[in-house]
Amino acid sequence: MTKLLTDLQKKLVALTRDLIMIPSDESRPDDIDRCFEFIINHLESLDTVDIKKHYHRGITSLIVLPKNMDHPKILLCGHLDVITHADSHCYHSHITDGKIIGPGAGDMKGPLAVLLEVFINLHMKYENLSLGLAITSDEERGGDAGMRFLFDEIGLRCEVALVPDGGSLNEITIEEKGILHLTIKCIGHSAHAARPWLGNNPLERLIDAVSRLRRHFDSLVSDKDHWHPTCTLTIIKTPNQTVNCIPSEAEGTLDIRFPAPYTTKEILTNIDNILGDEVETHTIMSAEPTQFTPDPLYLSVSEEITGKPTIQKKEDGGSDARFIGRYNIPVIVSRPIVGELHSVDEWIDISSMETFYRIYERYLKRKLHLDE
Ligand SMILES: [Zn+2]
Repeated sequence: MTKLLTDLQKKLVALTRDLIMIPSDESRPDDIDRCFEFIINHLESLDTVDIKKHYHRGITSLIVLPKNMDHPKILLCGHLDVITHADSHCYHSHITDGKIIGPGAGDMKGPLAVLLEVFINLHMKYENLSLGLAITSDEERGGDAGMRFLFDEIGLRCEVALVPDGGSLNEITIEEKGILHLTIKCIGHSAHAARPWLGNNPLERLIDAVSRLRRHFDSLVSDKDHWHPTCTLTIIKTPNQTVNCIPSEAEGTLDIRFPAPYTTKEILTNIDNILGDEVETHTIMSAEPTQFTPDPLYLSVSEEITGKPTIQKKEDGGSDARFIGRYNIPVIVSRPIVGELHSVDEWIDISSMETFYRIYERYLKRKLHLDE
């Protein structure tokens, strides 16, 4: 038995590390293509499924479905894109203390390796398996041309979706905050900085406006678990390059997160009122807060395999799960043990990958009524 488990771990580790080696971030569309080809090569060992690529606004997605089946009972969902790191040579991994460490190890090349393994192994073993797989490449950019497109425009549907892009082994995500990414912009009048009364400094006005916003969001702090709206200034810039010159315009970006029952409309109206007429706002991306209903069978299988109770958790970050959950499809968001997400030292715990594989395997077998 131990030998079998060791083989599985080895396979998952090799697959994860190969995936990490391909720097599939948004600045490298060729590597995103290469990563899809690598995954397709693995999937082509199955002759019972159809592999189809979809394209929307330059973004590629992959849907793999059993032949002659449009709506599988269960859909496994993942993304192969990772965030962009400044150091382009950081895309490799090493193993220390039972962990794979490298960019995207936890979010989500490690979990993606589990999805591929379990998908291929079960399809090899059982015929006419009602199990599909969807892989997108724009989750880190909001998922609009990926998972949203597949569900809203291609009409992808399932009875249950598994999205290993949040939570942990025994932590199932039941709620995600909404997201609002905004550009804020101020136009002013350029002048010599020695005579500021002749100018109208948009940078200073923008900073004043952001301070007003900060006071407002500070007043919404409600509990120590941070389950309240937050607003973070992430970029501030002006075209001005000169120390003694008042800039003619200034721009910033805000990342705002908020739980239900707040809505994007309500938050946006609030922000517009606080910023006033002098600051233009432009929405880059928005998503409503989402609540999920995990399948009780999944909770009991997780508890059986891990021997520990499951915890239902709220997540500050958002994932592609929201595009599925809004069709009232139960979405299960949990994953192996991961850490340091979005850093170059991102990691995934190897033995938890195996445990996670076993949870998926047993859940899928029970849900699809296969003999164990
Ligand atoms: Zn992710």
